[in-house]
Amino acid sequence: MSIVIKDLVYVYNPNSPFESKALDNVNLEINKGEIIGLIGHTGSGKSTLIQHLNGLLKPTSGNIIIDGVDITDPNISLTEIRKKVGVVFQYPEYQLFEETICKDIAFGPTNLKLSEKEIDDRVKESMELVGLDYNEFKDRSPFDLSGGQKRRVAIAGVIAMKPDILILDEPTAGLDPAGRDEILSQIKFLHEKYDITIIISSHSMEDMAKISDRILVMYKGKVDLMSTPREV
Ligand code: ATP
Ligand code: MG
Repeated sequence: MSIVIKDLVYVYNPNSPFESKALDNVNLEINKGEIIGLIGHTGSGKSTLIQHLNGLLKPTSGNIIIDGVDITDPNISLTEIRKKVGVVFQYPEYQLFEETICKDIAFGPTNLKLSEKEIDDRVKESMELVGLDYNEFKDRSPFDLSGGQKRRVAIAGVIAMKPDILILDEPTAGLDPAGRDEILSQIKFLHEKYDITIIISSHSMEDMAKISDRILVMYKGKVDLMSTPREV
């Protein structure tokens, strides 16, 4: 099993007038190598769930076990979690901060014990995998790119860590149909190449049916329905 979530509850701003229960007793098991489509209306809890899966948020109660390790354990370091789980957030521009694309993608791998050549190779490979030409883009600023290109740089930065689990929060939002299909086929390609577990959130059932082995529907903080795309 790749991910096991047990009785996960998360409350924003507890004991205040703004208290909101964003995750309401979520239980899930995700197999190694599965592609999971996570769909749900705005505010249903998709991003909150995703932020728990790489340790950015700690649950109010419940457990998250990744490859047998309980990541809610306070002794587990964030670096350890992030070597296993790569997340491309809903607003990927917040993941870009270096002055060149190349440095941005290299940022994660420089925290691993790798030689410069190994880091360079990872940067090149990840850029190619997301369809960014290395020579054309490596010295450009990540801030001068279109939204879709920024997302590709953020994906490349996450892939360069070679995670076992890749999570993408609304990777197709704001793209036209051709752009959406391109991102989805790149994700499929990554899955074939590395056989990783993938979770993708989206508002679009249609997009998720194209790519997922299983679809999870979130509604008001609960995982309300699990099915194969054929059943929905
Ligand atoms: P979207 O499709 O709009 O991205 P989502 O499914 O990702 O929505 P979340 O962002 O997880 O939904 O939000 C779940 C609930 O938690 C919502 O009710 C939201 O108002 C609340 N929430 C989200 N972030 C915060 C925050 N930083 N502080 C307080 N409440 C929050
Ligand atoms: Mg969201």
